[in-house]
Amino acid sequence: MADQDKIDPWGAIEIKDYNRLLATFGIKPFSQLRPLLVEQGIPLHLYMRRGIIFGHRDLDIVMNEFKKGKRIAVLTGFMPSGRFHFGHKLTADQLIYYQSLGFKIFVALADAEAFAVRRIPRETAIKVGVEEYVANLIALGLDPKKTEFYFQTNRGTPYYRLIQLFSGKVTAAEMTAIYGDLTPAKIVSSLTQAADILHVQLEEYGGYDYVIVPVGADQDPHLRLTRDLTDRLREVIDLTRPASTYHKLIRGLDGAKMSSSRPDSTIFLTDPLETARKKLMAALTGGRATAEEQRKLGGIPEKCTIYDLYMYHLILDDEKLREIYEECRSGRLLCGKCKRYAWSLLEEFLREHREKLEVAKEIAYKIVEVPGF
Ligand code: SF4
Repeated sequence: MADQDKIDPWGAIEIKDYNRLLATFGIKPFSQLRPLLVEQGIPLHLYMRRGIIFGHRDLDIVMNEFKKGKRIAVLTGFMPSGRFHFGHKLTADQLIYYQSLGFKIFVALADAEAFAVRRIPRETAIKVGVEEYVANLIALGLDPKKTEFYFQTNRGTPYYRLIQLFSGKVTAAEMTAIYGDLTPAKIVSSLTQAADILHVQLEEYGGYDYVIVPVGADQDPHLRLTRDLTDRLREVIDLTRPASTYHKLIRGLDGAKMSSSRPDSTIFLTDPLETARKKLMAALTGGRATAEEQRKLGGIPEKCTIYDLYMYHLILDDEKLREIYEECRSGRLLCGKCKRYAWSLLEEFLREHREKLEVAKEIAYKIVEVPGF
């Protein structure tokens, strides 16, 4: 594999060509699956309709098995190392969608990884895990009664046994081939993530028949490792390869990858309103140098981070989104007016979310078992 095709799931990479990712790693295009889901009467999430979820592995198999009555789990993990932002919301929205279909949701709070890879102290990781991640997920609409949240360091013996089994089934050279150069901390974190993904199939954790992992495109190395491990462990323990979906990464307001480490270009769901407004008003757009030029040539929504916010988060109605796209392209809509409209939507969202968050924080501490050692 060429070095340019190695993806560091802990890095701040930007993926410019999603089609190359499909071809290089054998991820199937999601567009081919859409008709099958429609035929099966499964409603499409807007990320599926809008091409934001662009690829999958084995989701077709799992959806067929779901129709036959098999029990499906959906698992995702969050590293509690920073504040919850609109990039995280992308995953949250998908969990809520799968929950509405009747799937069991598991959320791993990756405190072990946060310590190993980012040196986040345990107390900080636990507080951030509960108050930022669990609380925001609940405030967004994830039903806590149908969701199992857990901290990695608190997950019990069978889960840790899996990590040890995995460590005997992969060599350092194979890990390097998947991830590039790895520190021991990252090797342990990768094997722990494989345990997160697969352990829900063990009887002790519910014995689910299949697991779906919705991830950003930069997380595929973990899925490839986990699928290989599943095959290699077969004579010891019979687990099914995880299915996965891949979404495009939302850009920050400066056009680069959205990240907690660049707070000026990232809108957090707990940002004070004035802070969020200033960030949004300074965002990179696809507008032209002058209003006159924009009226003549039109804007470029594909280059615009405000349009990204509309498409991913702020406009749920496809017809309204199409209208804005066309108004922009034709030059009838200028960026100043467009940003003010975006702010009106964002302000409403943040105000409502803030109210829900207060209640959600109280619930979060009641339902999550905080590691006690
Ligand atoms: S008009 Fe709106 S969508 Fe078009 S480039 Fe400007 S801010 Fe972006």
